[in-house]
Amino acid sequence: MNPEYSFFDAVCKSFDKAAKFTTFDAGILEQIKQCNSVLRMHFPVKIGDKVEVIKAYRVQHSHHKLPCKGGIRFSEMVNLDEVMALSALMTYKCAIVNVPFGGAKGGITIDPKKYDVYDLERITRRYTSELVKKRFIGPGEDVPAPDYGTGEREMSWILDTYMALHPGETDALGCVTGKPITQGGVRGRKEATGLGVFYGIREVCNNLEVMARIGLTPGIEKKRVIVQGLGNVGYHAAKFFQEGGAIIVCLAEYEGSIYNEGGLDVEAVFQHRKKTGSILNFPGATNLPKNTDALEADCDILVPAALENVINKDNAGNVKAKIVGEAANGPLTPEADEILLAKNVLVVPDMYLNAGGVTVSYFEWLKNLSHVSYGRLERRFMENQNANILSQIESMTGNKVTDDQRKIIVHGPDEIDLVRSGLEDTMIKATNEIFDCWKKYPEIQDMRTAAFVVAINKVGTSYLELGIFP
Ligand code: GLU
Repeated sequence: MNPEYSFFDAVCKSFDKAAKFTTFDAGILEQIKQCNSVLRMHFPVKIGDKVEVIKAYRVQHSHHKLPCKGGIRFSEMVNLDEVMALSALMTYKCAIVNVPFGGAKGGITIDPKKYDVYDLERITRRYTSELVKKRFIGPGEDVPAPDYGTGEREMSWILDTYMALHPGETDALGCVTGKPITQGGVRGRKEATGLGVFYGIREVCNNLEVMARIGLTPGIEKKRVIVQGLGNVGYHAAKFFQEGGAIIVCLAEYEGSIYNEGGLDVEAVFQHRKKTGSILNFPGATNLPKNTDALEADCDILVPAALENVINKDNAGNVKAKIVGEAANGPLTPEADEILLAKNVLVVPDMYLNAGGVTVSYFEWLKNLSHVSYGRLERRFMENQNANILSQIESMTGNKVTDDQRKIIVHGPDEIDLVRSGLEDTMIKATNEIFDCWKKYPEIQDMRTAAFVVAINKVGTSYLELGIFP
């Protein structure tokens, strides 16, 4: 951890900047800002023939709504300051997208690449039982999810451990989200964060006023996009941008970046990396020596989708993008924010832009509590109804649609359709709520502050309505 920089302090700084545009008293603001409960653990796990002491955390930032919600990351960089900051961002993120959860985050300070799958399973299960012991997990208390270095596999282990310790609990499936479909997961969760990033940026690009202010033409089509990081978030975001008509001019991973003004095919690059172990030397593209070169390359939209602090005081001045979409959590330092603001670059903030993951986690949790998959009750009914309406129109007009058109018109919604349309609606609404707030306070200079104002107003109102502050 860099002793001179605190990620949690940076989040608090952004909070304070925005709090001036709200009317809550200082005590309420302080309560919103602080982390409510912090759990720091050291537990032993047998690795090979040695015992290793594993350091781990779970932080619940806010209990204004329950359960608390947020991912669990596995990384050597995990430390208390980072987990606190990320848990706070979860509170604001959930508020902005109207997901009724408090914020939380967890992490284990390990490099998962240094352990085999059995070691990882033992570490994850032991971590889960520590959470159970302290009541830091449960469908109504605190619900973890994937984050950097974790995925469906880890969520299955968490679920299985929780269920073993809570036999017969009807809603146990809701103790964790991001699970495989066969274990109570929801269709569309895996790509949700990347898709949410796309929906969010597309809505930003549809805003005429905002686009005029930064000197870009409206619409996502033909916009030149750079994505840094081809993990779950970056890979899916890049794919959806490409499908949406944008041109992916540059992609970056640990080993370096590749650039092609004419556009890169994301899936082909992904397969090339799988085959050769590197993104570099992709046919038709130019290698850029460092992965950070991608952050300074020419484009309209830059999407950092890897880790924190990648754009900082040293490189922010070289960013050429007009829009920076924070797909990762905290990719910009506060200094970078200031530099980009002075350059009239629109920074679309993480806690709103990457909220697609938690939004679909909410849908998964609802599915688990209702014990029925989306579309199961109404899909066939809708199809029959659509078929009836269509045949009435056909007999009235004397025209028949083609078989392909019939399929599209008659189609009743299944789980993936409902999840995606719920996510799209959520991101569009959240974008416009932030822009409305920005319009209301012309003194606000950046979108992050406007997003914070929206979040603080919602969390603050919720605290007031709970009657905690008489
Ligand atoms: N880890 C993701 C995030 O930072 C998802 C959290 C969740 O689904 O609870 O938003």
